[in-house]
Parts: sequence; C-alpha cells; structure tokens
Amino acid sequence: MAFEDIIGHDRQKRFLKFFLENKNIPHAFLFCGQEGIGKKKIAMEFARHLFCQTGNACGTCRPCVKLERGSHPDLVVIENEGSIGIDDSRLITKEISEYPFESEKRVIIINNAETMTIEAANALLKTIEEPPPYNHFFIITSSERDIPMTIRSRCTRVPFSVLSPVQLEQYFQGSKSLDAKKVSLVSSISFGSIGGGLFWLDDDNFSLRLKLAEIISGQRKGFVASSSVAEMASRTDRNMAMYLAFLLSFFRDLFVSHETGDMSRIVNTDLVDEINATKYDLGRVERSMKRIQESIRIMRYNVNRWLIFENLLIQITGNRQ
Ligand SMILES: [Zn+2]
Repeated sequence: MAFEDIIGHDRQKRFLKFFLENKNIPHAFLFCGQEGIGKKKIAMEFARHLFCQTGNACGTCRPCVKLERGSHPDLVVIENEGSIGIDDSRLITKEISEYPFESEKRVIIINNAETMTIEAANALLKTIEEPPPYNHFFIITSSERDIPMTIRSRCTRVPFSVLSPVQLEQYFQGSKSLDAKKVSLVSSISFGSIGGGLFWLDDDNFSLRLKLAEIISGQRKGFVASSSVAEMASRTDRNMAMYLAFLLSFFRDLFVSHETGDMSRIVNTDLVDEINATKYDLGRVERSMKRIQESIRIMRYNVNRWLIFENLLIQITGNRQ
C-alpha cells in the first residue's frame, strides 16, 4: 500500500506528504468530505508513513507489521456504529495524555466525528487546546457543520472532493469481478463515492432501488407496497440517505430527459423504462425534489425515519397528486 494506490485526491496527498517530509506535523487535521471516498484510508496511510522505520511505509519493519495486524499501540482508531460517547471520551482523555508506548508519536483517528456526543467533543477539545507534542489527531467527518466550531478552528482543514466517474470506474474495474456494463452503471449512480458504489453492488439494495423507481413511475401501485419499501429503505440512517439521494437523482433524470430530450445525460442509465413511464410535469418534479430535500434535512432531527419516508413516497408518487 502507498499513497499512490489510493485513487484520487492527488492534491490532498501532496499536502500531507509535505508535512511528513518536513517532519512538522500539525496536531489536528480535519478531513471533511462525502462518505466513502477514502478519507480514513488516507489517514491510515499517513500513520503508516509516520511510524515506519524507513519513513516509507515499507511494510516489513516492526511498526509496519504491527500496523498491518492492527496491533500498534500508538495508533488509536475511534469509530462507532452509533455515536462516539462517554467511553470514547475517557479514552480520548486518559490514554492520550500519556506518552506513546513504542513510537515518538501517537496518531488518533476519530472517524465519523459528527457522531460525537457533547462529552466526547469536550474531552477532545481539552486535548487539542493544549496538545502534547506527540499526539496527532485526524478528525474525519462527512458533515463538517456538525463539528463544533471550537474544535474546527484548531484543526488544519483538508477538504476532500467526490471522485470522478473515471476514477470510480478505475476502482471498480480493479477491485471487483464486474462486467464493463455494471462497472459503468455503478460508477454513474454512486454519487462520486466508492462507498456509494459498494452500497449499490449489494443485491438487496439494488433491487429496492428498482422497486422505488417502479413506485415513482406508477408501475408498482398500492399503499402496502409503498409502506414496505419505505420501511426497508429507512432501516438505517445510511440506507435512508442513500435512497433519498437516489430519489433526487431519479427526478433530476426525469427533468433532464424531458427538458433536453437527451437520454445520454441521465445518471440512472438502467432505469430508462421507468423514467419514460413516469408522468412528466415540471411542477411535480420541482415539488418532489423540494420534498426530498426537506426529508434529507429533517431526517437529521427526527428518529422516525420510516414515517418520514412513507409520507414522502405518498407525496411524490404521481397518482396521488
Ligand atoms: Zn516500515
């Protein structure tokens, strides 16, 4: 593994290498950008370079082998399925106030930092306000505005952009046994993110996407169908975010195909039939896109994802308007 093996983000990689070469590393980086584009991978690669005895992430020295096994005591990765809470804040406060065990440095990666509770954020703030010289934080988030300003202002900000369809194709060609047609489709519908592509490569997710398209186009009718699709699509925050993004892209495609008549510009290239079957009316498209965006916004404050999704489907399904 090397920085070069991670697809895209050339400017960010150059920026980070500069710090490694000059051995003058900031105490806290803020990596921000969409989920699933390689932010954590790049932070891990940085740690490999920092801890390696040759400085090149050789892969064979003692620290490199330990990192590979996930047993290097000076690399702390904090990430949770739910939120980063009280146990993690104890870890942040206690463990990292001591000297590193084996190296002169310690790297602390906090992934999905937007899920930090107030306790965890306060603990983090204390340690980066007066940082011991050996600690280096990588605070990683896909939702920068949910990170308290007091923390953000103490970090070196590294923004990451989404990957281009060409970079995504490069990734999916190399790492999966997919035919060319599927590679191109997945690269087109994954919203610039490898994580997004992997999500749609899951058969269940992919077929639910088709069902949603059929509901919108009116090919699949009935409240029960909508309700059960809504339930499945809203099972987790992640699922909900992906299906809402898909719905936006579907209406965008509907708009593009009717307003320009150019089907080569649509994103959901496998859903041409569903797009054509959907009754077109500019007002409907605008209203629907507004409602989807509203759902994306309120989803952040509301625990009842199913209800939000079900209401949305009722509102944007053509035959109910
Ligand atoms: Zn090494």
